[in-house]
This record gives sequence, C-alpha cells and structure tokens, in this order.
Amino acid sequence: MKYVYFFGAGKADGAGDMKEVLGGKGVGLAEMTRIGLPVPAGFTITTEACDYYLKHDHKFPKELRAEVTKNVARLEKLTGKKLGDASSPLLVSVRSGSARSMPGMMETILNLGLNQRSVEGLSKATGNARFAWDAYRRFVQMYSSVVIGLPKEDLEARLRGMKAKIGVKEDTQVSADGWRDLVSEYKAYFKQKTGKDFPEDPIEQLWGATGAVFESWMGEKAVTYRRVEKITGLLGTAVNVVQMVFGNMGEDSGTGVCFTRDPSSGEKIFFGDFLLNAQGEDVVAGIRTPMHLSEMKTRMPKVYAQLERVRAKLEKHYRDMQDMEFTVERGTLYMLQTRTGKRSPSAAFRIAVDMVGEKLIKVEEALERIAPEDVERLFYPVIDPKLARTELASRKLAEGINAVPGAAVGKAVFTAHDAEAWAGRGEKVILVRQETSPEDVGGMNVAQGILTATGGKTSHAAVVARGWGKCCIVGAEKLQINASAKTMKAGDKTVHEGDWIALDGSDGSVYSGQVDLIRPEPPKAYETLLKWADKTRKLGVRTNADTPRDARVAREMGAEGIGLCRTEHMFFQDFEHPEKSIERQDAIQEMILADTSEARRKSLDKLLPFQRRDFIGIFEAMDGFPVTIRMIDPPLHEFVPHDRAKQEELAKKIGISAEAVARRVEQLHEANPMLGHRGCRLSITYPEILEMQVRAIIEAAIDCQKRKVKVLPEIMHPLTMEKRELKILVDATRRVAEEIISKSKVKLEYLVGTMIELPRAALLADQIAEVAEFFSFGTNDLTQTTMGLSRDDAGRFLPIYVDQAKAAIFKDDPFQTLDVDGVGMLIKWAIERGRKTRLKLKIGICGEHGGDAQSVKFCHRVGMNYVSASPFRVPIARLAAAQAVIEDKKRK
Ligand code: PEP
Ligand code: MG
Repeated sequence: MKYVYFFGAGKADGAGDMKEVLGGKGVGLAEMTRIGLPVPAGFTITTEACDYYLKHDHKFPKELRAEVTKNVARLEKLTGKKLGDASSPLLVSVRSGSARSMPGMMETILNLGLNQRSVEGLSKATGNARFAWDAYRRFVQMYSSVVIGLPKEDLEARLRGMKAKIGVKEDTQVSADGWRDLVSEYKAYFKQKTGKDFPEDPIEQLWGATGAVFESWMGEKAVTYRRVEKITGLLGTAVNVVQMVFGNMGEDSGTGVCFTRDPSSGEKIFFGDFLLNAQGEDVVAGIRTPMHLSEMKTRMPKVYAQLERVRAKLEKHYRDMQDMEFTVERGTLYMLQTRTGKRSPSAAFRIAVDMVGEKLIKVEEALERIAPEDVERLFYPVIDPKLARTELASRKLAEGINAVPGAAVGKAVFTAHDAEAWAGRGEKVILVRQETSPEDVGGMNVAQGILTATGGKTSHAAVVARGWGKCCIVGAEKLQINASAKTMKAGDKTVHEGDWIALDGSDGSVYSGQVDLIRPEPPKAYETLLKWADKTRKLGVRTNADTPRDARVAREMGAEGIGLCRTEHMFFQDFEHPEKSIERQDAIQEMILADTSEARRKSLDKLLPFQRRDFIGIFEAMDGFPVTIRMIDPPLHEFVPHDRAKQEELAKKIGISAEAVARRVEQLHEANPMLGHRGCRLSITYPEILEMQVRAIIEAAIDCQKRKVKVLPEIMHPLTMEKRELKILVDATRRVAEEIISKSKVKLEYLVGTMIELPRAALLADQIAEVAEFFSFGTNDLTQTTMGLSRDDAGRFLPIYVDQAKAAIFKDDPFQTLDVDGVGMLIKWAIERGRKTRLKLKIGICGEHGGDAQSVKFCHRVGMNYVSASPFRVPIARLAAAQAVIEDKKRK
C-alpha cells in the first residue's frame, strides 16, 4: 500500500479524486500543483496510515518509515535545502486534513526542522536573527504543547515572564536575544517535565508531529465536532508535510484567507481578509482584525493581480466557489489550501444560479448543489420590521462585523459550557465570547446566535456559524467582555449573564432586550432554481393543510394541491373566526353524547354549515388543484372533556346530568386508542358522521363550481384494512354525493379513495384497489403499525436507537425519514399490487415523510404520483423530487 504522495514543481502523485485518502487539504495541494499554481512542495501521508495507526496501538505502519525518508529526500532535492542544515535549512509545516472540513479541530505544527544548528542557518539565510529565533521559540512552544501535551498556560507564563523581564509589552518588541532566552527556558522546562532533552533531530520531530496529528483525530473537540456535524465513515486525518513559507518576514509579507465569491450573499466579488506581516493561523484565530482584500490591492498590486488570476483559474477548474488560504513571503505568492467554500443558504442559491448563467455548470448540477437544509435555512429569521426603528436604535449596544445573516435573540452567556447548560434547561442563549476556538463548538451549536469582540469574516466563529446558517457577529471591538465576571460592557451599559440580547447578523448590530423575529422573503435565485426543479421533477408536490390560510401559504411555497386535509381540526377550531370556535365544539360534543342516531343527526346538522364553509375556503385557496379531504380519524374521546368541572359545564349546556356525561366519557375510554375505535371504523359505526362530512364537501364543491372556482375533491377514508369495509364506505359516500350532485344539476368530478396505514391494507392492496380510486400512504401510522412502535411513546427509547454513539440500530428516526427497508417494502408491494388491479391508480404519501428529502426520493423511485408535505417543507420536496430524477439518470 502506498502511504505517501508527493507534490511539487508542477507534478503530483495524487489527484483530485483521492479526497478520502489524501484529505481535503491534500487533494487541494495536489490539484493546485498540477494546474500550475504556486504551491510550496511537500507530501501527504494518507488517512489510511492514520487508520492503521489508530487501530494498531498507536504504531505507524512498517512501510511508512522508508516512504517518508524517501519523500523527505525528494523534498530536500527539489528545494535545495536540508532539514536541520546549518547553512540552508529546510523547514516544514505539519498539518492535519481529513476528507471533510473540520476547521481548527485538529493539530498543526509549524517551523518543524529547527534546532540549535538550523536556527543559526535560518538566521544567516534570512539575515534576520530575530525572525529566526522567534520562529524557533514558536516551534518549541507548539511542539511542547501539541506533541508532548505540556500545559499551554505554563508556556504562555514563561513568555509573559520574559517580556516583563526585558520590559516590553508586545511580541513585536522582543529582540533576538529575548527569543533565544525564551527557547532556553522552554527547553529547561521541557527537560524538567519529561526527563528528556528537547528533540534536536528533525526526523524525530517529524514522527512526533505526525503522531500528534493522528492522535488529534480522536481528540475531544474533533470527536464532538464530528458528532455535531454527523460526520461518519471517515478513515482519519491525513498529514501534510509542506515546505514552510513565511508571512511574517516584514511589510512585504503576509497571510490571508479568501473566497472566490462572497460566501454570505453569493455575489461574484473577491472576498477575503489579509494580515500584513503575520504567520499561519493568525487570520483564522481572529486575534487581530485583518484588512479587506481591496486594501491589499492598493498595498501589493502585483501580488493581488496574481491572486486574482489564481481565483479565476481555480473557479474554472473546480467549477465551484473556493475558499483559499495563501501566504505572501517577501512579495512572492504561495497558495496553501483550496477547498469548496462553505456558504450561506442564500449564497448557495445565488452561486448555483449564477454559475449556470456563466456556463460553468449545468442546470442539473445547480439543482444537485442545493441541500435540503439550504432550503430550510433560507428563511432566516429577521427582526420584526414592525418594531419601531427608533426604539431599536435606542437599544443598540454595539456594532460588529456581520459575519452570518439572520437575527437571533436569547439570554447572554459567556462560556460555551454555560451555553450548553442553559440550553439544556430549555433556555434560548446567545454565546458571547472575546473570540471562539474549536473548544467552543458544543456551546456554539446550541446557541441561537454567536457574538465575538474580535475577528473578521473568516475567523473561527464566522466560519463555523456560517456552516450552520447560524446568526453570527464578530469583531464588535467596542465590547468589553469579561468571561470570568460573566459580563459585557458597551459604553456605560452592562449586560449580565441571563440578560436578553438580540443580534442582527445582517448588519452587525447588537441590541439589548428581547425582540420578535419573523421570516423573510427568499432571494431571486431561489425562485429560479425552484422553477428548474419543477421542470425536472416527475413527482407532484402537494401539501398537508387544514385551513384556508395554510392552503394559501402552501400555494405560495409551490404546492400543487392538498394531499391531506385533516377535518377533525375543524371540529376544534374556527380558523377564520377563532372566537366562534366554541359553537362547533359544542355541536361535536353534543353529537358524541347523543344516544340515538336521530339525536346524532340533529347535532351533526349543526356542524354541517361550519364544515361546508371551511371547505369552501380551502377549495377557493386551491382553485384548480386537487384537494384530498380525509374523513374523521381520531377516537371520539379526544373531543370530550375529561375533568369533572368541564363535564359539568357541558352537561348544563346540553341539558343532561353530569353523571351521564361522565358515563359516556368512561365508555369512550380506550386502553390503546391508536388501534381502537378510530379511523374509518367511526364511519362504519356512525354512518351519519360520514354522511354529514360528504354532504359538506360536495355542497361546498358545488357552490364553488357554480362560481367558476375549479374544484377537484378527493374523499379519503383513513385506516382501512379490508375491501369489504372500504366498499361500505365508498358506496355510502357515492350515494350521498350523487344525490346532491344530481339535484344541483352541476357537473362535478370527484374521487373516493383510501389511506394505506395498516400492514394488512398494504398486503391486500390488490383487493382494496378494486374499490379505491386512489391510495395515500399514511406513513405515520404505517410506520407505527409496521414497526410496532407507538408514535406517542417511542420518544422514551428511540433516541438511543438512532444515536450513532449509543445503540446505532437505525441511522435515522423512522418517524422522520422513512424506513425504506421495512415500511418501504410494504409500500412497494402495495403499489405494485394496487396497480395490477387498477392500472391508473393514483398514489401519494401524506405522512410526515412527504417533506423529508430522503423519503421523497424513495417515493419517486417507487413510482408514486405525488408527495404531500407541510407548507414550509413544500420547497424541500420540490427540490428533492428533482434531485431524485437526476440521481435516476446517473444510475442508468
Ligand atoms: C399518517 O398516519 O401518516 C397520517 C397522515 O395520518 P395522521 O398523522 O393524522 O394519523
Ligand atoms: Mg394516520
């Protein structure tokens, strides 16, 4: 097995398709070298070596030693420098890099190769003793803490002590001698702690650093990050050993991070930060506030122009927005990294659509590039514009850099640990930090928003928050944050832990107090992209909506009809006139308490006008689209009061005794109502309920039809398990409907069908299709009944089943993402059987899975006609349905 891949002087052993073994950084370096960009030479030790190391008691594979020796020699030959050399020493950086970006989660060691001899060599070669000794002390410091694990604080204390001794405040004021003394102190400390001398041999240093990088793969913060980001299935981290270049060699040097397009808006502008005379991680760490690239343009026009050319070349090569790191050493540009840039959801849409316009990618690729989460996150909350701007202005605490848009509101907390603790208690928090570091990700993840006093748009806080689409403000320098006192001062105002604050990540404003948030309009590119999705997809996308208002929202989201209208919600609530809800509640309760069918009919007559009006509203909102209306489904006990006081109240209203009410409620009690007297079983036993509901639907449809509102009602019976059962219901439905239609003299088309929610119904789908004109899979119940998993009680143990760090029995919650293996098998069977009986059987899904991207793709593959999703998930379904078509094509 080959464990080491070299790159340099325009050639590379590795290539762009080797991300799994070379890691993101490794393939980026190899590819950039191949396409002729200025990249310092080096080699990558593969993730397979890391995997071996972690599985074999922290030992390197045998063959690795020879390979590394050979590649070090190759690097020395190419650069004309030697590790540890007294006149022209080669220095390398040793960096981690896995197949998925894990910003700052693993270790890095810079300036490796320095020792007592080569530091003199570096000093001579650069003519700068101060620089050489500074580099050496940085290396000893990093090596001691990262490789050996000596406490950072002890090392920092020695640095502070040295500065105090020579009477300076800033690192930049320390002389060569000061750094030399510090190196001696570090080494003495090293010996005292480890009993050994600090390693002089660069090869020994290299193995130490490589081992430390491999170890960092299993470090706590890396493990947490992978858990939070759901990153699984990777071998480990690769190690990149690259010739050092220095951004801290004076005012003609520097280091930067940039994006080929604006990662927040997606606009095609060169976007990034640059720090003059700085090394390595200084930009990402966000310790100093950097300059914008436009300023670099005026300061270093030549290098900037070269960087622009690199930008163009990389975009053309990768055909996607790139996030690059570079260093300028004495006026020469070096590219250190490139990768697909993380972007805000809104930028994801804009970049995808723009790149189609620029002919960089095809429409299908644009569609593939949008993740379902991007659609969801697109509707970032903003501060309610109704809140008076003057009021808002009076509450302004500070202004920072608007790193990630959207708004957030929560209680201020000052450590990541506190954020997790508060959020664990159900509190909404804003994490406030001087700057964030990878240790903070757990707290950042649970926070509503993140605020830091330092850093730029590419600082740790900004990069991580953007990946999550989480509101983030950085570089609010006016804030005085005191993490130990848990306070934040802005001018004369002080915010304490637990005080409400609000962030507006779109303009960088920080406010005190609470605000209301609302969801905004999506960008133009969203409309374009979803139109493309609509053209591509074969599945119809409907919505689950019970009210005219939801139906209108869903149409705005692109729904092409209603796949499920749960009529029982109308029994509880008058959605147009909530204050009148009591009237219908009374009527339904009266109906349930009735002893005879006669009495039941009477109270149902009272309900009829309410239902008819509701249906009219829904038909109007869905003008021209089909509307599937489900007959009553929940067990009747859900509609009657269970406490004595309410029962007495009800008894008084309808003129019977409280005992009679209590008795009836007692009768309705069920041990397992989910499998009891519910669904179509209600219409079988109380046909007058069915009659009233069908009447309301058909009369509403006729009313609309007369007014030229186009209606396509689909009447749906829930929870059927047998053809004879459904036949009774279908016959009754048609009898009532036909009578009304023929009297009205209006032509009205309608369908009568069933939900498939029980395994028996799925198994006998061929028989059921003889009487059903359509099937709609109620996968909430079908999952519950197939798996024998109660919808209401599964929460007690299911989280452990799906936790990959615990039982890991399922990858996803089966109530969220369809269990394709089990429930899916029944669905496939039912579709096949159903269509054998009725070739044109219309088939859809209306369980929650209809809005889950993975499940939607399954529905496409098994040949459903449509999916039905809650209004805000309709766009996800539209996109997923298009992606399913594209995936199909690829498979062929
Ligand atoms: C279902 O069971 O999937 C369904 C849509 O019905 P409900 O959730 O109302 O039981
Ligand atoms: Mg159901």
